[in-house]
Amino acid sequence: MKKQVIVGIDIGGTNLKIGIFSLEGDLLKTWKTSSKPLQNPQNIQNTLLNELNRFEEFTNIKAIGIGVPGLVRSDGVVVESPNFPEWHEINFNEILKNSLNVPVCIENDANLFTIGEGFIGSAKDCKNFVGITLGTGVGGGIVLNGKIYRGNKGMAGEIGHIVIHPSGPQCSCGKKGCLEAYSSATAIEKMMEQQTKLILNAEDISGLALKGDKIAQKIFEKAGYHLGIGIATIVNLLDIEMIVIGGGISKAWQLLERGISKGFSEHTFKTHLEKVEIKKSLLEDNAGIFGGFFIAKEAISNFEVS
Ligand SMILES: [Zn+2]
Repeated sequence: MKKQVIVGIDIGGTNLKIGIFSLEGDLLKTWKTSSKPLQNPQNIQNTLLNELNRFEEFTNIKAIGIGVPGLVRSDGVVVESPNFPEWHEINFNEILKNSLNVPVCIENDANLFTIGEGFIGSAKDCKNFVGITLGTGVGGGIVLNGKIYRGNKGMAGEIGHIVIHPSGPQCSCGKKGCLEAYSSATAIEKMMEQQTKLILNAEDISGLALKGDKIAQKIFEKAGYHLGIGIATIVNLLDIEMIVIGGGISKAWQLLERGISKGFSEHTFKTHLEKVEIKKSLLEDNAGIFGGFFIAKEAISNFEVS
């Protein structure tokens, strides 16, 4: 008999990442491919099924957990996604039901990252913490009393749009001075262009900073500093145990760290400064698929109990 597995899928604006797990949570296989074909909602079913069929030995799937960059309603329908403008009210459960007939759970990608880190990453055993993802934008997930806090309309955790300066730089949301306008890859790239006229991606800019480029170093420090101010706002509001930071930009941790500490210490209480941990993601690129495993596993347990 084929081994039973749980699948975690992390759909990003660029990559589609898939993880195959044993029922106990061991990551057996992971791979990634382009998420471009998913732009057209008509292609979602075939693209996902083709990927899952690539590894025949894993075809005995028990449940699937999927992370998407967008607004996910409490019934699992993806209302909209800034990375996939053609998506409107996408129901992955409906799309995959006929061909797979297993529980399919959907979660916002930043929430899934946060769940993954809480399950087996940096925030393991934490009951109250916040996850922040630094990528093209800045995302966030809030865990209170061991559960993701979704808010009234499922929109909680938009940490990227905490206002740092009301008259600050333009943000992707149309407003001004949001955290995302200071600490995202897009913001780092813009700062570099403004100061040097060079058009580089954030990874190249971090490479320059690591080689000692003073301008690039200052830009990362500034991104970290404003992130520290945003973190102080979150901690002052929620009195949590820990902040976990992931996403592509977090790989430049050594460039951000000093700025984060400075921004945080200047804007929070002494007791938080002593007690609250600010950690880098442990699972890095795999946090989303581990989160996917966790929500899928939970769905099976609920199913079996009821
Ligand atoms: Zn904004």
